[in-house]
Amino acid sequence: MERETMCIQAGYTPKNGESRMIPIIQSTTFKYDTSEDMGKLFDLEASGYFYTRLQNPTNDMVAAKITALEGGTAGMLTSSGQAANFFSVFNIATCGDHVVCASTIYGGTFNLFNVTMRKMGIDFTFIDPDCSDEELENAFKPNTKAVFGETIANPALVVFDIERFAKAAHAHGVPLIVDNTFATPINCRPFEWGADIVTHSTTKYMDGHDAAVGGAIIDGGKFDWMAHADKFPGLTTPDDSYHGITYAEKFGMGGAFITKCTAQLMRDFGSIQAPMNAFFLNLGLESLAVRMPRHCENALKVAQFLKDHEKIAWITYPGLPGDKYYERAQKYMPNGTCGVISFGIKGGRAAAEEFMKHLKVAMIATHVADAHTCVLHPANSTHRQLTDEELIAGGVGPDLIRLSVGLENVNDIIADLEQALG
Ligand SMILES: *Cc1c(COP(=O)(O)O)cnc(C)c1O
Repeated sequence: MERETMCIQAGYTPKNGESRMIPIIQSTTFKYDTSEDMGKLFDLEASGYFYTRLQNPTNDMVAAKITALEGGTAGMLTSSGQAANFFSVFNIATCGDHVVCASTIYGGTFNLFNVTMRKMGIDFTFIDPDCSDEELENAFKPNTKAVFGETIANPALVVFDIERFAKAAHAHGVPLIVDNTFATPINCRPFEWGADIVTHSTTKYMDGHDAAVGGAIIDGGKFDWMAHADKFPGLTTPDDSYHGITYAEKFGMGGAFITKCTAQLMRDFGSIQAPMNAFFLNLGLESLAVRMPRHCENALKVAQFLKDHEKIAWITYPGLPGDKYYERAQKYMPNGTCGVISFGIKGGRAAAEEFMKHLKVAMIATHVADAHTCVLHPANSTHRQLTDEELIAGGVGPDLIRLSVGLENVNDIIADLEQALG
């Protein structure tokens, strides 16, 4: 199946007389004829559902669609992108372990790793994704358990060299985790470049309509946990909380990661996506392959307009020829990158504030990456506690405007920007 077909058909095939649409199984619990039947589920001897805190059939159908789109072997939905990234790391790294991470990741993920997960005793080394080979090599420690990066960083728009980081991770016997939120599997499939685990904030393009917060984790099924058994005892030694099952033995390379993540982390943290939200997510997925090319086409036209405008000081868009990451984007995403652009207006912070006041089509919102064009001035919103010096040090200057180009007619978007620039 091609990706367009998977968007519509993967994950659920109705049998004779069944609903054409994915059914919403709005139920906390599932009934069994005997307690022996149910016991087999608790022992992971049979697969099935017993309680929606761990698993739900609607979620699994939608997860199967995303797994097919990414070309993975197993997948699960989570309540948010934050939960997906937390689980993806915590499933293999615990107190005393270490993770190598690109420094340009999404601010929410940076906080999760650098503040909250540090409190859990996990150490992180943040490195420039364009660092030298020597710096990359020096970032690894004997207790390193994973490498983490974003295909296209939000909001820095840095394109991650997936192949390079996958090679470095594998040379150290650890998997590469890639947050593929901005590119989506329509524009990039990280598994094809050596990534081992892919995560998503489905809140963005996958849902695509501002309707539901959600996340997903997909396993590429190629990382051999048993070959590095000493590094990943959670997968390669018996789990006492599941009657001594060894995940990597029982579920193999294709299933161990997601089974453990469901059986332990979802059981204990309960960060499950509501089945109703999974239904909304599926509606978004059905048109993802049609929407992404239009986001990219609109964004490129907007980027070209801004680049040539006399009041624009600078612009970053990896799909724009001449951009620092254009060549790398062509390698990993030849059909398009995403709809998000960053730029600065001559006159800095004051000019940015004035510009924002006059926008009508582009709505001010902290959100990005969906059908509605939206815009944010971080210095005045998400980053407003910081001084100009701190903003510059963090790579989000006082003049930076983040524009997420939606699916409206691009002429209306450009006309709006033009009148607001004055
Ligand atoms: C938004 C976002 C997240 C967090 O996702 P939520 O669904 O908001 O929890 C993680 N990674 C990236 C790249 C994002 O853009």
